[in-house]
This record gives sequence, structure tokens and C-alpha cells, in this order.
Amino acid sequence: MTARKRPIIVAVDGPAGSGKSTICSEVSRRIGWSYVNTGALYRGVGLLASDRGINLEDEAAVGAMLEKLAGAIFWDYEKHQLFCGEENLTPRLGSAEAGNAASFIAKQQKVRKLLLPVQRSLALNAPKGAMVDGRDIGTVVFPDADLKIFMTANLEERARRRLRQLESKPVAGVSNNNQSLSEVMEDIARRDNQDSKRGEAPLKKADDAVEFDTSGHSQDEAIDALIAIIRDHGLL
Ligand code: C5P
Repeated sequence: MTARKRPIIVAVDGPAGSGKSTICSEVSRRIGWSYVNTGALYRGVGLLASDRGINLEDEAAVGAMLEKLAGAIFWDYEKHQLFCGEENLTPRLGSAEAGNAASFIAKQQKVRKLLLPVQRSLALNAPKGAMVDGRDIGTVVFPDADLKIFMTANLEERARRRLRQLESKPVAGVSNNNQSLSEVMEDIARRDNQDSKRGEAPLKKADDAVEFDTSGHSQDEAIDALIAIIRDHGLL
């Protein structure tokens, strides 16, 4: 028997708030795989650019910043935290500011090109298998993934989940949230639109992806259902 050349890769794409990060991180923990949250990388880069006062629409300036900093960005697998040098970006990654900044810079070809090898090597370094979530994992980052999932949920449910998430994660003791449900719905709809319509690696279901709609499912039901899909594909 020939040895596997790389870990098993499960690519999970879908719109904001569909439950990707919560469900994938818990599924990975239960089956002993690594979890790679590529949205965290885009969020981190968005924050680094806005902290430096860079105009997020200035592709050349964002690209130049990332070229300088890319080597200093690293993911701590044990703590599930994202650093740039000494700076821990993790506490701010869940904020609406980070999500919106990410959606802006994610349109840029240079940013995507620089983050592509970072995402691939994070997953390929996994000892057993990796669940990799994002928008273009099954189409661009791992078109040869062992399994592709397209995770969705209706807009209102996605907004309710995002609101709960914002409210449950205070930054330095202060709530991360100052938005109402309708504002979060607008935010998510704007981001979906931006992510699906962009020219570079738009959000779309890969032809060979399994569609997984989490609307009306509790978190635990969705976790069990995803493990069952992975098992049914002979990957466990
Ligand atoms: O998944 P999350 O909401 O954290 O992603 C934040 C933003 O990063 C998305 O709205 C999207 O614009 C961008 N993103 C992307 N490609 C990925 C992951 C995230 O364009 N693979």
C-alpha cells in the first residue's frame, strides 16, 4: 500500500454566519483533526491594515503591507490563536469591524495570492486530517479536497447566530456588540453580496460539493450530521 501523500482535507465553504467556524471547530475536536479557519486570516489582515490607517480600498498599499508582514503572521495550533509577531489578534477577530475589513481586502488579487500558500501549508501540516473553512476552499485553495461541503442557513437565522456570537465574546470586558438584529442582517447580506459578486475567487458552491443546510438544526444536531457525512464518505 502506498503511503498517503497528504492529510485528509475536508473543504467547507459557505456564507457568513452559516455556522462554519463553530461547527467545524467542534467536529475537528471530536474526530481529532486540525481546524483551519481561513476567515481568521482575512480578518487579521483587515485589522492590521486598518490599525495602520491604510485605506482598505488601496490594493497596492494593503498588498505592500501584507508582503512585509506575511512572514510574521502565524497560527498557534494549540491555543487556536492568530498572531502577527508579538501581537495577538485573536480577541478582535470576531468583531463586526474585522468582518467588514476582511470582506473589503478579500476582493484583492494580491492579498488572495499571498494568503493562498499560508492557508495551504496550515492545512497540509495537519498530522491526521484538516477541516478547512472559508469561501473558496473547494474551488481554489483545495480543488482536490477529499470532501467538499457547502454550508448554508437562511439569512435571519445566520444573523441571530452572529448576534449571539458577538454578544457572548466581550473584548476586555466590553461587549463586542452594538448592533441590532436588522443591522446584523444588513451587514451579512452586504457581505454575502460582496463575497459572491467579486471577480477574485467568489463565494460559490463547487460542482462536486455536498450542500448542507443548517437552518432549523441545533448546533449539536449539525455537528452530528457533519460527522455522519464525513464517515459516509469513508474518511473516518
Ligand atoms: O468566515 P468569516 O466571516 O470569518 O470571513 C470573513 C471574510 O473574509 C468573508 O466575508 C470573506 O470576505 C473573506 N474570506 C474570503 N475567503 C476565505 C475566507 C474568508 O474571502 N477563504
